[in-house]
Amino acid sequence: MTEIDYGQVTGMVHSTESFGSVDGPGVRFIIFLQGCKMRCQYCHNPDTWEMETNHSKRRTVNDVLTEALHYKHFWGKKGGITVSGGEAMLQMEFITALFIEAKKRGIHTTLDTCGFAYRPTAEYHQVLDKLLAVTDLILLDLKEIDEEQHKFVTRQPNKNILAFAKYLSDKQIPVWIRHVLVPGLTDIDDHLVRLGEFVKTLKNVDKFEVLPYHTMGEFKWRELGIPYPLEGVKPPTKERVQNAKNVMQTESYTDYMNRIHQS
Ligand code: SF4
Repeated sequence: MTEIDYGQVTGMVHSTESFGSVDGPGVRFIIFLQGCKMRCQYCHNPDTWEMETNHSKRRTVNDVLTEALHYKHFWGKKGGITVSGGEAMLQMEFITALFIEAKKRGIHTTLDTCGFAYRPTAEYHQVLDKLLAVTDLILLDLKEIDEEQHKFVTRQPNKNILAFAKYLSDKQIPVWIRHVLVPGLTDIDDHLVRLGEFVKTLKNVDKFEVLPYHTMGEFKWRELGIPYPLEGVKPPTKERVQNAKNVMQTESYTDYMNRIHQS
């Protein structure tokens, strides 16, 4: 049987960032992939939505990894590579091949995803498990716990996303849960309580972060000629961010268990 040459697998890449410091542990090389089927009202990368655009580029795993390895000496013990988007899980073959090749070189691998591409079927699990075997950490964006509000915020349901979170928990794949807090949109106390309760049922959460909404992507909507739905919406106040943290009790499962055992 001929062995697959993972280095030659290609994917549609939007761009790369050499010194990412917020998308996973340590300093990281970030690869932004094209394509997303969600339409979050606060998206700061609407230029990644379409799979093929004038600025996106089809690149091989070898090409991307060679670029990443130029920065290896900055990664220290914690850093590595993060694949983000767009929605990276629309390109399963590419990210799996990339992570397989990265693991051969001892690189820490992180996947930043909204989980929407997940399907609860045996066929999908077969493909997914191959990816999870070479993934050290998943950054999972939970945008809204309430199904109707989720559809309003992203134009898509959240059923498969929550099922994906549960699947990762059952598989004990470490995750950081992230919730973007947008005034009037994803900052609703009742929903935050429910989101906090859902996250507490997961057994694999290393971090639970509240990310305050920012307006830095707004100009991209304008450049693309798409009306920005959050025109005039300001970032949340410090008080509202703290409120969300309190309401959702954003501590790691390990810290939570330690606290419970100590009390
Ligand atoms: S999932 Fe991410 S890339 Fe897709 S629309 Fe939402 S914020 Fe944008």
